Amino acid sequence: MSTVVAIDGPAGAGKSTVARLLADRMGYAYVNTGSLYRALALSAKRAGIDPGALTSEFLSGLKLEFRGADLYCNGELLGAELRAPDIAQGASMVSRQKIVRDYLLPVQRDAARTQWIVMEGRDIGTVIFPDAKCKFFVTATPEERARRRMAQSGEIAAGADFEAILAEIKERDERDSTRKIAPLKPADDALIVDTTGLSIEEVVEKLAKFCRQAQ
Ligand code: C5P
Repeated sequence: MSTVVAIDGPAGAGKSTVARLLADRMGYAYVNTGSLYRALALSAKRAGIDPGALTSEFLSGLKLEFRGADLYCNGELLGAELRAPDIAQGASMVSRQKIVRDYLLPVQRDAARTQWIVMEGRDIGTVIFPDAKCKFFVTATPEERARRRMAQSGEIAAGADFEAILAEIKERDERDSTRKIAPLKPADDALIVDTTGLSIEEVVEKLAKFCRQAQ
């Protein structure tokens, strides 16, 4: 039986909310892999280096580990700082580098070694756990995602308007889905779930039903 439920999809599609609720319902742990890329963007910012050009020397000085759903970097619990808009853009630049994806692969696989998990990201079903039995690609129109972002005030720059958020979402989608390594795309065997116009509860129920049938 698979120990991983993989949830991939673009920014702002509601993955995190749905993944957390699904994990609760199934009694699985929840792991958000975007926070790993964000942690590297934050560490680069603190060190004053370009997030788009990380070196193995820089990465080898960082120890990232999940303790439950919490992410620690060199023993420091990382929290709200990771959600800042500049860190989201930095993460998207960090994530294009092969050296980074190679470095983060075992961190993600380790998280599933000792517990059953719902793991969310961009390449969980395609690269990290290609053998997962339950794979979802959760998406929504860019406009719907921008509307949801507006409602989550912690994740948008002060004073940002709808058009600016929509442009930011489209920019990040474009960068994430056109990169050479592990681009954002559904796995061949993923269930594609368009959440536009659906309630969170309807989405969670859809996913839970699929998982029950797959296992
Ligand atoms: O999901 P979140 O918005 O926190 O992800 C931040 C960025 O990290 C994404 O835009 C993407 O570039 C990158 N990412 C990734 N692969 C993952 C998770 C996130 O490339 N599995």
